[in-house]
Amino acid sequence: MASAVPPAASRVAVVTGASSGIGAATGRRLAAAGYRVVLTARRKDRVEALAEEINASGGSAAAYQLDVTDRAAVDEFATAFQSIGVLVNNAGGALGADPVATGDPADWRTMYETNVIGTLNLTQALLPKLVASGDGTVIVVSSTAGLGTYEGGAGYVAAKHGAHVLAETLRLEIVGQPVRVIEIAPGMVRTEGFALTRYGGDEEKAAKVYEGVAEPLTADDVADAIAWTVTRPSHVNVDLMVLRPRAQASNTKVHRER
Ligand code: NAP
Repeated sequence: MASAVPPAASRVAVVTGASSGIGAATGRRLAAAGYRVVLTARRKDRVEALAEEINASGGSAAAYQLDVTDRAAVDEFATAFQSIGVLVNNAGGALGADPVATGDPADWRTMYETNVIGTLNLTQALLPKLVASGDGTVIVVSSTAGLGTYEGGAGYVAAKHGAHVLAETLRLEIVGQPVRVIEIAPGMVRTEGFALTRYGGDEEKAAKVYEGVAEPLTADDVADAIAWTVTRPSHVNVDLMVLRPRAQASNTKVHRER
């Protein structure tokens, strides 16, 4: 079938938060699918090391230091591209697990800035380039926290609900343009940074999150799902994919073996 869309090999995929966890795994998966991946995060050494790893294994990757909350830096970053095929808005995370009564407003603000405004910044800056590709895809990595709440999670839950609404609204607003909007909502994923960041580097508290859970999802499980949605035919838009480990039935119902 004739197509005006260039083959995947000549297409660019930008991944935010690619220095760790789901973002790094997504960089590897999209590179393996033939994309030229642009790996971004604040920790430059880590995205550079991952780009080297991908290039050494026959893929194509570049690294770029970027804080998604810095709009001027995001706009500057966007000038590097004529067109891009995929934007994976993955940068984000949780800070704290306090109840509403005692949660730190500074943590709430940071979570909103990173998970919502960060996604907004990248999406606004790169949307024209996605349209210019003739076949663009925006991925929003939200969370099951974007679909339902849990005690001690309100700040993160509120932010991820924001990311969910951004994805849903954008899909409505750009219908008719050649850009898909796909939301990936993972449940419990054991990644390098997520729980550690949430508990301010406290390894004991972070380990408790996964205690007794037979097999939490891995970063690569989520990356696999992202790559699958991206590589469907252009007319197929997976609106929302919810992924949980088998041991997790809801945000609050987790089977622990001990
Ligand atoms: P992670 O290992 O802690 O990775 C988080 C990534 O976000 C890092 O690469 C970090 O890079 C980046 N990041 C944070 N703030 C940033 C900023 N201001 N600018 C640019 N990059 C920033 O955690 P993860 O589990 O892979 O999380 C990835 C995404 O999945 C997050 O949006 C998270 O909320 C979501 N998620 C995770 C889970 C889970 O259970 N793990 C479940 C559902 C959804 P730098 O620090 O180098 O900037």
